[in-house]
Amino acid sequence: CGVFGVIGVTDAANFVALGLHALQHRGQEAGGIVSYSPEDGFNSARRFGYVRDNFTSVSLMETLPGALAIGHVRYSTAGSKGAAIRDVQPFFGEFSMGGAAIAHNGNITNAEALRRELIERGSIFQSSSDSECIIHLMARSLQRDIPARMEDALRRVEGAFSVVAMTRTKLIGVRDPLGVRPLVLGKLADGGYVLSSETCALDIIGAEFVREIEPGEMVVISGGKVESRRPFRAQPSKFCIFEHVYFSRPDSIIGGRSVYETRRQIGVELAREAPVEADLVCPVPDSGTPAAIGFAHESGIPYGMGIIRNQYMGRTFIEPTEQIRNMGVRLKLNVNRALIRGKRVILVDDSVVRGTTSRKIKEMILDAGAAEVHFRIASPPTAWPCFYGVDTPQREKLLAATMSEDEMREHLGVDSLKFISLDGLYRAVGASEQGRNNSCPQYCDACFSGEYPVEPADMIEKGFKL
Ligand code: 5GP
Ligand code: SF4
Ligand code: MG
Repeated sequence: CGVFGVIGVTDAANFVALGLHALQHRGQEAGGIVSYSPEDGFNSARRFGYVRDNFTSVSLMETLPGALAIGHVRYSTAGSKGAAIRDVQPFFGEFSMGGAAIAHNGNITNAEALRRELIERGSIFQSSSDSECIIHLMARSLQRDIPARMEDALRRVEGAFSVVAMTRTKLIGVRDPLGVRPLVLGKLADGGYVLSSETCALDIIGAEFVREIEPGEMVVISGGKVESRRPFRAQPSKFCIFEHVYFSRPDSIIGGRSVYETRRQIGVELAREAPVEADLVCPVPDSGTPAAIGFAHESGIPYGMGIIRNQYMGRTFIEPTEQIRNMGVRLKLNVNRALIRGKRVILVDDSVVRGTTSRKIKEMILDAGAAEVHFRIASPPTAWPCFYGVDTPQREKLLAATMSEDEMREHLGVDSLKFISLDGLYRAVGASEQGRNNSCPQYCDACFSGEYPVEPADMIEKGFKL
């Protein structure tokens, strides 16, 4: 998901709509905005579909007045599947000291246990979302102000959370102690402040990047001041390495590094680790493009657009059902036959999850008359599900969970298949020249290594085996 908030500008909701539009790649199912003005109080709008199809209507935006607003774009992950408007964030709660709204990116790994406990003690849940626990925990806190109630609530929550919240007067941002999901602080020229999942959404509203919210940090912004708090015990950070590979936009900056440059560097590493003789390097657009550019550069093999992407289709992976995902490949990607015919082609993609995309693409490339097809993948084999906010399927559906690299090559029907090594990936993201620090990995890489930095309590209770 994507989260965004603004304080200290007239018509903050318009800024939030623009920010959410720039974060649309993080969630395409639905979006919502809450605003506050002293005259009109809290107002909210939650809609299915793209930001540009909902939050551009003047009549809708007029219902969201005020100098303070937050928003969310939703991408449902395991647990809260399906289309229900009640699951669309931000969520709102009314407390004795006033209202508050929250927008959450990530996944709470003990949400089901918390929900059971809260329901037993009288909480009335409105949604099926894990994020709603935060509101109910806040309601039970005895603290006297909302940020302190949020601290109380979040200390009981496990897993990944980057949260943007608002009260009548404050904009609040928090990252979980491991900092699994991103969150950055920006500043507008006329004094307003911005919180955003990624820096690309600061650019769209002309905000200046100030800094990242640190893992385990809470910032409370009001009256033009940013106050920093530390509600959690300090821990080594475990930022999601897959944000670098796929999830974030290439024009964002993470940890002082351009995501585009990291992805290009992954391609360079791949070309060194897994060279192959061929005539053409093609990205699987858009997610494989920067890595393909790096691969072509390092190998000296010409780069070409052998697959053309229909710009009117979204991210196929993010479509929640298998059937739509299956069709999605053809609706979204087509082969550039004139370029492919007779050539030995290296296809570069970011990841192989179920193998649906790769299989279809291989068929399309061979139909177009390619002489050979070689796959080079910009991440290690995805062998474990993510429980921290990326919707990987159950373990059984992951190709790499049940097959060796050679069996995968066979299954996909390609001439060769190579994945970047975990160390190569760590080098590319700039972690260290040596790669992964195996005694304390610099990132979360659980979907590749099976080493979960936070125990997925709800899943273990349901029988998931580490
Ligand atoms: P597959 O078809 O193998 O299931 O999925 C691979 C494709 O989906 C890749 O081309 C990649 O761009 C996209 N993708 C891969 N992994 C993920 C993921 O964990 N989350 C999301 N949102 N998209 C992914
Ligand atoms: Fe990111 Fe993978 Fe960790 Fe999930 S399991 S947070 S996708 S690195
Ligand atoms: Mg892709």
